[in-house]
Amino acid sequence: MIIAGNWKMNQTRAEVAGFCAAIKAAGRPLDGACRMVLFPAFVHLADLAGQLSGQPVSWGGQTCHAAEKGAHTGDISAAMLADMGSSWVLLGHSERRVDHGQTDAAVAASLAAGRAAGLNIMLCVGESRAEREAGQAEQVVRAQLAGSLAGSSGWQAGQLAIAYEPVWAIGTGLVPQLSDIEAMHSLIAAEAGQLTGLADLPVLYGGSVNPGNAADILQLAPVGGALVGGASLKADDFLAIFDAGLAVCEAKG
Ligand code: PEP
Repeated sequence: MIIAGNWKMNQTRAEVAGFCAAIKAAGRPLDGACRMVLFPAFVHLADLAGQLSGQPVSWGGQTCHAAEKGAHTGDISAAMLADMGSSWVLLGHSERRVDHGQTDAAVAASLAAGRAAGLNIMLCVGESRAEREAGQAEQVVRAQLAGSLAGSSGWQAGQLAIAYEPVWAIGTGLVPQLSDIEAMHSLIAAEAGQLTGLADLPVLYGGSVNPGNAADILQLAPVGGALVGGASLKADDFLAIFDAGLAVCEAKG
């Protein structure tokens, strides 16, 4: 089980310091069946690395460029993320797709760069409201998986997680029916498993997860964790979601 926080374009240095201090003080088991991953803004990676050094928490960038280095103003390379102690990169988030026109082919190229730098990949997929209403959700997610994972091979266990994030559920307070989450996660596990050869691929749910709904979502059999935006900004809320994950892991044995 992975409980991941996507801080997006949020947090000051003081807030990052407060968050890290709270995580350390909470003393949760962070290296067991339930693991914590954080995706801060690039500028906070160094602070996070300093403040969480020695803690079994992982972190990563919110995207990376496909090129190894070069003339790409404002971008960041996978090697730079790795150099900051990152072990993950988040790719294909709907906000990158919408704000920056990121295509599945661009995601696939960044994914290759991330893997070349030794990073684990958290790949986001999910349909828009219009696509769901048109009955195209499964088709859209299948196409995103096929396009984003195109050309990749030689995956090892632990190198890839998929985050199912229906775009209409992100930051809106709306959450799909549990039966819809279950169905989509099963589809993603099967489809991504076939594309990568990975069995037991963690499929995280993302979209308005909060301390009140986390337990219901995380206990669904095909849900392998949560990618949390807004509710990951405050350590108390994020820890409450992490605790829900821990409880599910304990119940599953
Ligand atoms: C996200 O954008 O990854 C996300 C899940 O956001 P929120 O939890 O705020 O809906």
